Amino acid sequence: MCLKKVTNQNLDSNLKLLVTNEREILSEILIHIAEVERRKLYLTYGYCSLFEYLTKRIGYANGSAQRRIDAARLSFDAPDVIEKLESGELNLAQVSLLQKSIREVQASSKTKIEPQVKEDLVEKLSNKSFTESEVLVSQALNIKPKEYTKTMHQKDESIRLEITFTKVQWAKLVKMRELLSNSLPYGNSWDQVLEYVSESVIQKKDKSQVVTKKSTVDREKVNKESNSSSFKPEYPVKVARKVIPRVVQRKIFQRDQCCQYKDKNTGKQCESKWRLTIDHIRPVWAGGGNTSENLRVLCANHNREIYRQQAYLSQI
Ligand SMILES: [Zn+2]
Repeated sequence: MCLKKVTNQNLDSNLKLLVTNEREILSEILIHIAEVERRKLYLTYGYCSLFEYLTKRIGYANGSAQRRIDAARLSFDAPDVIEKLESGELNLAQVSLLQKSIREVQASSKTKIEPQVKEDLVEKLSNKSFTESEVLVSQALNIKPKEYTKTMHQKDESIRLEITFTKVQWAKLVKMRELLSNSLPYGNSWDQVLEYVSESVIQKKDKSQVVTKKSTVDREKVNKESNSSSFKPEYPVKVARKVIPRVVQRKIFQRDQCCQYKDKNTGKQCESKWRLTIDHIRPVWAGGGNTSENLRVLCANHNREIYRQQAYLSQI
């Protein structure tokens, strides 16, 4: 199937239709899985569990099988779950989170959670994000926050760290990660963020350190290489770019806070805070200047996309 000639609008509407079909099929699959469970059909076919049956006979990967089992089992007590998965009000990740939490609470408290509680939770989680669902589930099932910090040394000498942050501390960490997004060449996982911050603190504060800047140099090299490998068309006309003064840059970042890209048809704004850059609305090569009206914040992906479109338009 080649989609290269399909219009943007058709590509988008076809995909929506396919996803609707996918959700319909998913709900049918879940009804089937629930019936297999009810009949214990997996035993007849020589499998010791529903999980074994779904992975070994039906061919699901472990995680996919477990999420479907969770949803099918939850549907015994909260039948609405199937309909909500089909309509898109709930997704499998939320349902699996709920069922897993119910399982753990029942195991630790040795009491059964009433079907009504499950039904209420299915209703509460509808149209919520995964993070919101995590909070709602832990509140409703009274799952105590884990307060300890756990460090585990593993066989390859790596260390696994489990920390509980307060809401305020977490907001600070997320903000720090956003601010560092342009400085992290390898991605934004927390180990990389903490390594980067540790390196800069060591360089600044540790008087015994011989300043080699080796890792920073390496990173800059990678950064340059990865930049040069991404698509960057030439400016149609070479124009000397005047550096945007720092004070103006700060003003634009304070004003915009996040990516300002907007889809002209739907009005949907990107709002990403990842790898923010300052973009000239009217390009420099077309006479655009460094005035705040001509500047806006874009994420790196939208900056690159707009650059690509402008270069393309100037060539036709
Ligand atoms: Zn963006």
